[in-house]
Amino acid sequence: MAETHFGFETVDEKDKAQRVAGVFSSVARKYDVMNDLMSMGLHRFWKKFTIDIAAPRPGERVLDVAGGTADLAAAFAPRVGAQGQVWLTDINNAMLGVGRDRLLDEGILAPVAQCDAEKLPFPDNHFDIVTVAFGLRNMTHKDRALVEMRRVLRPGGRLLVLEFSKVWKPLEKAYEVYSFKLLPWLGQKIAGDAESYRYLAESIRMHPDQAALKAMMEHAGLERVEVFNMTAGVVALHRAYKF
Ligand code: SAM
Repeated sequence: MAETHFGFETVDEKDKAQRVAGVFSSVARKYDVMNDLMSMGLHRFWKKFTIDIAAPRPGERVLDVAGGTADLAAAFAPRVGAQGQVWLTDINNAMLGVGRDRLLDEGILAPVAQCDAEKLPFPDNHFDIVTVAFGLRNMTHKDRALVEMRRVLRPGGRLLVLEFSKVWKPLEKAYEVYSFKLLPWLGQKIAGDAESYRYLAESIRMHPDQAALKAMMEHAGLERVEVFNMTAGVVALHRAYKF
């Protein structure tokens, strides 16, 4: 029986997706407000930086994997314009529902698809840009998901992976208190769900650090992988190309 991590728990691989689904179905409605509170608004800056580093051009095709409530998709849409296309995708119907409604409310016409990053329903060599923000660490087989994201990129296309990462050593203690005390407390107060936010803290701790993720991406066949640390390594953006 193959095993994997769900936060600090070791679980059967076939159960992880279900457990992750439970977390995101539970937090979907409060997801955006919690993001602003937990990051003190910083996630907006991290995502803006991601878009700038992706450098979308009018007419390009963008795939946002694990796109949730559509922060990236909404920001990409005006950058690629009417000739371009932005797909919002996620495995979770509750998160995707919030994202789809938000795009409609903002007058953005973007295709939406519920799908697993490990089995993307798109042809080879199709997208100019693929992004995944705070999604990879929830995936059961991160290696398979990276191979899939590479597959759907056209040669010369770029992949952007935005994720929590390894914080600068002098800040580790303070970050630990923040993650394991403040996050579950906030989760309880705002979303009535401490457990999901405990999972969030644990999953961040279990996620590969900057160098390990870079190596995973290279192993998946991606090239010229660069790492941009933000907020002292609280998050890192990895950019890579398919050639
Ligand atoms: N990208 C959005 C953002 O940055 O705000 C949402 C990030 S949220 C923390 C993580 C998302 O990953 C959830 O919406 C969850 O449903 C999605 N997810 C988890 N496993 C997935 C998988 N195997 N395939 C696609 N999406 C997945």
